[in-house]
Amino acid sequence: MELEKLIELDKKHFIHPTSSIQQQQANGPKAIIKKGEGIYLTDKNDNVYIDAMSSLWNVNVGHGREELVEAAAEQMKKLAFSSTFSTFSNEPAILLAEKISSIAPKGLNAVFFTSGGSESNDTAIKLARHYWRIQDKPEKRKIIGLNRAYHGVAAASTSATGIPEFWSMAGKMMVDIYHADNPYGNGTVKAIQSLRSVIESEGPETVAAFIAEPIQGAGGVLIPPKDYFQEVRNLCDDYGILFIADEVITGFGRTGKWFGIENYGVTPDVISFAKGVSSGYIQLGGVIVSDQIHDVLKDKSSGTLFHGYTYSGHPTAAAVGLKNIEILEEEELVENSRAMGEVMLEGFNKLKEDLDIVGDVRAIGLLGAVELVEDPALNKRFSRDLQVAPKVIEALHQRGVICRAVTYEDTDIICFSPPLIINKKQIETMTEKLHDAIKEVRNGLSA
Ligand code: PLP
Repeated sequence: MELEKLIELDKKHFIHPTSSIQQQQANGPKAIIKKGEGIYLTDKNDNVYIDAMSSLWNVNVGHGREELVEAAAEQMKKLAFSSTFSTFSNEPAILLAEKISSIAPKGLNAVFFTSGGSESNDTAIKLARHYWRIQDKPEKRKIIGLNRAYHGVAAASTSATGIPEFWSMAGKMMVDIYHADNPYGNGTVKAIQSLRSVIESEGPETVAAFIAEPIQGAGGVLIPPKDYFQEVRNLCDDYGILFIADEVITGFGRTGKWFGIENYGVTPDVISFAKGVSSGYIQLGGVIVSDQIHDVLKDKSSGTLFHGYTYSGHPTAAAVGLKNIEILEEEELVENSRAMGEVMLEGFNKLKEDLDIVGDVRAIGLLGAVELVEDPALNKRFSRDLQVAPKVIEALHQRGVICRAVTYEDTDIICFSPPLIINKKQIETMTEKLHDAIKEVRNGLSA
């Protein structure tokens, strides 16, 4: 269909997620993407872009992988769907649960499937409450998350999200969810003090779980100090609180390890995942629970687990997930993420030599960010009116790079999360374009 017609229909009929509907009406979509191959996306005007965000932090094995198409087609021909409710099962779901258990941190060996990250976090939170309730501790139901966290848009995951804009539509939809300061700008000691104080003021005997992303993604790729999660683990153990790691972005190789929390040498009780498990080729997510939780569920839950999605254990989704993990293993993409992450960070560091508005730069595997500030020595942020990060995103778009800005709380953060197949030369091209884009915006500021 012609581009103009598509734009007209988009404006008329398509409500986009996390978007300004007024802006959509005024401008229509910025690009209509028609094709993906490797790290590249092509739009209807044949403009080619580096997909520096792996679309939504998820296309880990890159675009256009025939193997995944074939895995889905083969499974669909045999059995596209059948339910896993109650006692029915299917082979791909069983094999994927086993495979994920084998790559998960030691001691987490049972998987519940969902279709995405929001469902996974709602599941994790409900399971945490259930875990205490069936052990005759129904008062242990409070959940603590972190400021600037993003956990999704279902009832519990919206509430656990620590970016207040996300509560603006319907409020916090689940009660008994609280937030503590994250380590960003605070360091471990202050962040742990904040968490301890929330736990103590609420009463540890009423707290079911603490939930955090190992590295906050939508909050601006905020990498906690090395000792932060060990302190979290100690606090959770001291107070008998479950630790849920939201690995929706950080799972499946993104940070140079299978799971982001491995960078911190601690083991959570629950891991929620989605995105990279299927590289976005199909909707898939889930939670992995510890043996301790699984044992309690097996022993104490005499009744039905009143939680399940029609698509939990979807055979086609599971077949794609299995093939995706096989690709990550065979092509050693977790290792590539670690190695190329170092190249990306080197590139970010070089930006500082020539650009006086580059503040903190960081990366862990292929998850990174460049922060733009008015004065790097003082870490002084730009005025909101200047719209620095959105302008850089636009300048990058013009140069054929799609990435993402985070501007909550007056920050100007440019995030990067490229496909794990990216090579050195492609990273260099990406960072050169970033350099030029920042320079253009910088020059515009003093003009
Ligand atoms: N958790 C994290 C850390 C995320 O980044 C996201 C999505 O970006 C979610 C949960 C929600 O996942 P979904 O959009 O698949 O529901």
